Amino acid sequence: MKTRIAIDGPAGAGKSTVARAVAKKLGLAYLDTGAMYRAVTLAALRKKANLYDNKVLESLTAGLVIDIKSAEDGQNIIYLNGEDVTAAIRLPEVSRHVSIVARCAEVREILVQKQKEIGRRGNIVMDGRDIGTNVMPDAEYKIFLTASLEERARRRMFELREKGEHIELEQMIKEIEARDKIDTERECSPLRQADDAILVDTTNMTIAEVVDKIVDIVAGRKD
Ligand code: C5P
Repeated sequence: MKTRIAIDGPAGAGKSTVARAVAKKLGLAYLDTGAMYRAVTLAALRKKANLYDNKVLESLTAGLVIDIKSAEDGQNIIYLNGEDVTAAIRLPEVSRHVSIVARCAEVREILVQKQKEIGRRGNIVMDGRDIGTNVMPDAEYKIFLTASLEERARRRMFELREKGEHIELEQMIKEIEARDKIDTERECSPLRQADDAILVDTTNMTIAEVVDKIVDIVAGRKD
């Protein structure tokens, strides 16, 4: 049987960390689809492209070679035209602009086609915003991860501080709120919980608890 697990949710809900750990526990591959939108955004920013011009974004995206490999710890290593951009795509500048690029239907079409191809191979945990609704609508398991806005902002703030980027909580809340707004209100595949997805609110849960909960869901154990 092909096991496909779709994990969607807003920024800072813990999707990547949890998805990676679930994949490791269950011996599945892992794909971070947000990293693909981030790679396109990095390329667009480097070219000083107009992020509001869909035609410009489309031809830019069509010309990019985005490769994704898995590191020993399961983390996705992202190559943009052969260059390892795993760290660069996490820079605040990219985070601030990625939702604008991800609104573009033409960009989505190109990236979603790749994601669907990977999904068809099965035995995968994929995280993003539209995995359960659009990329793998027939996934065997669908999880919608969320947490309060403040908790999500706090997590992102600590993550950035660990990398030496100092950002105040208030500022982080504003940035995450702005990104959520664009992601949920865009016309093309907006962020929403699939009808058949299981909602997991991680506000008061540890990563290990969330991972165990998902593994239990996959194993058919109920609490
Ligand atoms: O998951 P991450 O926060 O890295 O995603 C960055 C951005 O990429 C999201 O805020 C969203 O705008 C976009 N995205 C998307 N669809 C996905 C994954 C990410 O629109 N499947």
